[in-house]
Amino acid sequence: MIYPRVEIDLAKLRHNVQYLSQYCERRGIAVAAVTKVTAAYPEIARVIYDGGVCQLADSRLENLKRLRFMFPDAELVLLRLPMLSQADEVVQTVDISLASELETLRALNEAARKADTEHGILLMIDLGDLREGAWPDEAVDLARAFKDFPYLNLEGVGTNLACYGGVIPNHEKMAQLVSIKEQIEEVLATNLRWVSGGNSANWKLLESGEMPKGINHLRIGEALLLGRETVNRTPIDSMHQDVFTLCAEVIELKTKPSAPIGQVGQDAFGKTPTFHDRGKHRRAILAVGRQDVVPEGLNPEIPGMQILGASSDHLILDVEDTGPISLGDTIRFKIHGYSALLALFTSGYVDKVTF
Ligand SMILES: *Cc1c(COP(=O)(O)O)cnc(C)c1O
Repeated sequence: MIYPRVEIDLAKLRHNVQYLSQYCERRGIAVAAVTKVTAAYPEIARVIYDGGVCQLADSRLENLKRLRFMFPDAELVLLRLPMLSQADEVVQTVDISLASELETLRALNEAARKADTEHGILLMIDLGDLREGAWPDEAVDLARAFKDFPYLNLEGVGTNLACYGGVIPNHEKMAQLVSIKEQIEEVLATNLRWVSGGNSANWKLLESGEMPKGINHLRIGEALLLGRETVNRTPIDSMHQDVFTLCAEVIELKTKPSAPIGQVGQDAFGKTPTFHDRGKHRRAILAVGRQDVVPEGLNPEIPGMQILGASSDHLILDVEDTGPISLGDTIRFKIHGYSALLALFTSGYVDKVTF
């Protein structure tokens, strides 16, 4: 066995994908499954694709190139706004990209012309979260520009909330997006295919039955993989929250004081740590660190175990109140944090095992 490793329960993942895509389908919503959290890990992508989602979406072109190779016929979506320098590769790799800049549209149109292909665009509208997207009053003008871009198809409009600004998607925001879509349809005298209302943060609105009729598309990552909506991070009934488990090995096991001895300056990450002296405690050090995981996103499976902290390569645990633990044991953690999962799949030092 190689440690640290992430175990991936594909049966639980399959359930999540099927449950979520059917739930959405019954409510008139197509799902673009977002693979970026797991760096489009092939076996995960396979289960997701077979689970009945409408598209695969990722923020990184490198991941999408692998997905294209695996699934020649899949509809692929680039989630991050394309770089101008990527325009040629973008139109050759994905079917649809998200866009908000006229100059990028011009570059994609030119790239599509050169490649003798057509490229779909989801026009992003910023409804207040302050990440990507044209301001609502720019949207119609941007849409008008498509008359000059014969190689681009305006597939629809989309918005992304609850990411940078933490703005909660509600009925009003979604109705605003639908209304922008209708204005564009009127000006261009054409129908748009998608109104893409957002991400896993839209789950509660969907569940409440308050999602406006016109919303027919969501881009979902975290809810599929971790089984939770993302406004309050509450578990979704009928979905698994434990698809992923981290296993790491104990490399030191000693009883030490709970506060450092000596004058305390900055730690490895430039912070000045504070400690409560609780006397001597039994501690374990595991061979995994911040280079591989965000410790705040881990839950030890063993009751009474506490994560004290981590440096780049070491995770330090309080094991005073757990049962017996030995050097060389492997300790298991449920992964509940998005950032933890992202780091684990980005780290080349973490083995990935599916079953
Ligand atoms: C990452 C991303 C998503 C998916 O977000 P989740 O919270 O994982 O569902 C959707 N849309 C865009 C534009 C993204 O970048």
